[in-house]
Amino acid sequence: MKLACRCGPVEGRIDPRRVHARASCYCRDCRAFARWLGGAGLLDVAGGSDILAMAPDGLQITRGFEKMACMSLGPRGLLRWYASCCRTPLGNVPRDPKLYYLGVPVSAIAEPADVIEGAFGPRGHIAVNAGSATVPVASPPLARLAGTLRIVAGVLSARLRGRRNRLLFDTDGLPLREPLVLGRTQRDALSLDP
Ligand SMILES: [Zn+2]
Ligand SMILES: [Zn+2]
Repeated sequence: MKLACRCGPVEGRIDPRRVHARASCYCRDCRAFARWLGGAGLLDVAGGSDILAMAPDGLQITRGFEKMACMSLGPRGLLRWYASCCRTPLGNVPRDPKLYYLGVPVSAIAEPADVIEGAFGPRGHIAVNAGSATVPVASPPLARLAGTLRIVAGVLSARLRGRRNRLLFDTDGLPLREPLVLGRTQRDALSLDP
């Protein structure tokens, strides 16, 4: 499937077979990131971000890498990659490359909604961090559990095999771009729910 920033120069591909689950994350950090980016349509009505939880080797950036930038909501937070040209979120990875995880925002997938739904299920079907949603979310508990287990199993099996995330990291395990780390005041302001 194609991945692209809204204005075009950043392009890539994801391998649907490397996706563990499509999940909506309602954590305050994902919400703060969406607010910081400022794009419309990044959050659902309950303040959730629609994410493909996947293995990092399932993403390839094919064009426009020089436009990719990286931020973090705190000194230990996830590295959140986005396109500097149009502030499209592109992918979140843990700082520790031994944690083999990548979250790709569905808004970056340049495929029709029905194709995405056919491959990964509907938006919001699996809710994570639902406790911090801005309004109660209805996500079937079994789907939530199954999705969470698939994500955990994917990360754990990679850990057991000693896999390291090389996507967007150099050989020393440092991010390929210096992340812009927000100060506490700015982060707290972005985390405030109305
Ligand atoms: Zn762009
Ligand atoms: Zn989150």
